[in-house]
Amino acid sequence: MLDHIGSTPLVRLDKLFSQDHVTVLAKLETFNPSGSVKDRIVKHIIEDAERSGVLRSGGTIVENTSGNTGAAIAMIAAIKGYRAILTMPDKVSQEKQDALRALGAEVVRCPTSAQPGSPDHYVRRARDIAASIPGSFMIDQYDNPKNAEAHYLTTGKEIWEQTGGEIDYFVASGSTGGTISGIGRYLKERLPDLKVIMPDPVGSIYHDYFNTGTVDHGKIGTYQVEGVGEDHIAECMDFTVVDEVLQFEDADAFAMARRLARQEGIFAGGSSGANLWGCVQIARRSDEPVTIVTVLPDSGLKYLSKFFSDRWMKAQGHDISS
Ligand code: PMP
Repeated sequence: MLDHIGSTPLVRLDKLFSQDHVTVLAKLETFNPSGSVKDRIVKHIIEDAERSGVLRSGGTIVENTSGNTGAAIAMIAAIKGYRAILTMPDKVSQEKQDALRALGAEVVRCPTSAQPGSPDHYVRRARDIAASIPGSFMIDQYDNPKNAEAHYLTTGKEIWEQTGGEIDYFVASGSTGGTISGIGRYLKERLPDLKVIMPDPVGSIYHDYFNTGTVDHGKIGTYQVEGVGEDHIAECMDFTVVDEVLQFEDADAFAMARRLARQEGIFAGGSSGANLWGCVQIARRSDEPVTIVTVLPDSGLKYLSKFFSDRWMKAQGHDISS
């Protein structure tokens, strides 16, 4: 199983992008065993901790996550025989909690209403649990430099090899920033003219932070696309490799993910839709031949009751015609 993490396919999307001069290549991260891009970073971080002796046989892995990182931790902990404890807000759906328990992880539910920093908040709870269990280890995906390093060593290198270096743009939205920072650095070291573009949801701080260097806490908002954008600056996020941050609305990302499923037969999540929306913006600007590479981080299966449901889309006021 561990050997099947990475080496994911890179496919050309020639229906969504049918103009002759535009080539859009998408890296299908759902081909990783737990179904998302996060297998790469969790494997790399755990194996690094094993090498340095921080994580020993029979140890405990703790993290605050309900999403793809949690699934990757639960899977890899099962394979390697570690105990996994995952904290999350109790708004997380029962199915998601059950999927993690199915892989043997212990799920600690914390009140969604708990204030950041309070003992009940799921991030603080994970730190307290880790501090109370000898031999425990936190993945710390937001601030662990090994997160971006995993993408530098694997995803970036694979894209380089799969394209033969023929790339003009790399597009990826971000949360921890590991994906865009690691891949962006690897490719820019080899392709100085490459442009790295980051779609960012309206309500996230990254767009303003990138453009002004400051965070206006009054402008932090909510959005429906999951897994991307942030309300704090992650240490992993390296803006020195980013050339432009483009703001998108939820509807932009959902419409593109729905079109991707129907036109290309690729069933992917909302952040994949956001990345493809970014590719559309770049394609529109280009008259010359252009090659754009992006990543599709996870599967649409997780969003069946959300933007892949016409009823949900209508209730949210989103258009379902595209
Ligand atoms: N898409 C999805 C669905 C994710 O779960 C994540 C990670 N939160 C990302 C994109 C962004 O990846 P990164 O954390 O590497 O910036």
